Amino acid sequence: MVNWILAMDVGGTKQTVALADGEGQIQVQQRRPTERESGAEGGIEVLLEMAHEVVAEAGLTLTEVARVGIGFGGPVDVRTGTVLLSHHVPGWENVPLRAIMEEKLGLPTVVDNDANAGTLGEARFGAGRGAEDLVYINIGTGIGGGIMVKGQLVRGVTTTAGEIGHTTVKEDGPLCTCGKRGCLESICSGDSIGRRAREAVTAQPNAGRALVEAAGGQVGAITSETVFAVAAQGDALAQALVDETVHYLALAIGNLLNLLNPELVIIGGGLSEVGDILFVPLRQAVREIALEVPYRAAHIVPAELGYEAGILGAVALALE
Ligand SMILES: [Zn+2]
Repeated sequence: MVNWILAMDVGGTKQTVALADGEGQIQVQQRRPTERESGAEGGIEVLLEMAHEVVAEAGLTLTEVARVGIGFGGPVDVRTGTVLLSHHVPGWENVPLRAIMEEKLGLPTVVDNDANAGTLGEARFGAGRGAEDLVYINIGTGIGGGIMVKGQLVRGVTTTAGEIGHTTVKEDGPLCTCGKRGCLESICSGDSIGRRAREAVTAQPNAGRALVEAAGGQVGAITSETVFAVAAQGDALAQALVDETVHYLALAIGNLLNLLNPELVIIGGGLSEVGDILFVPLRQAVREIALEVPYRAAHIVPAELGYEAGILGAVALALE
């Protein structure tokens, strides 16, 4: 039967290709590190190679594959399937990835950014099963997001909807990767939490001793993981950094609840793995921001797909 799906997750550090059945169950999967120096051209070559290999490994041919779904780690114009750029790999500027894949594989292809793919993945296979109105926030190196209303992704007029990471939460705040100031990402992404911690430790060396110690004595080695681990041990400065993170996340999420009235807010990415030290105060702080009715209707939960989020998101994209 022609109902197999090829899924591709194209990230800044790794590329994954999987073959899934019509139910979205992955049967064969390959993962390789992204070689940044070989750019988009080299990356596409590796994707095609892996695609042929997973299909052959399953004892199939491309004629038995129905569709290709690609989640890309960077902005995509979904209407044309064009990658606009990658923040991590040079050479991806305005690459018509959908057209290239359709030509090389002869299969209908859908390309979207990895946050939208992650939203669909969590909705179909993860924490969002059974929910139709949800918001997904991926907090990793940066902050990405996706919005689902009545079971459909909200893409917006130029397909950039869901950029939760670039909602302004602090006027004249830190400079963001987008060039503006005070975006949620500039304060609460994994990278930004690490940066704030290093700045705080440099400004208050005494208060920052536990953080530096936990990072092996190197201020430069302090990351967001260090902050949450040291806060869990009762350190005051680390806890202040966590409190600040919770405060700004709550501002963004509280406003989202008022605006969209979702059933679920799913938090994914590395930060979601810290557990109660984030989620318990976050739910409390959101309550201070959001209106009572949307607050009571919404559950703020960690994502469930973890390491597989990207590739399962690409599967969900092909199934959409
Ligand atoms: Zn920004």
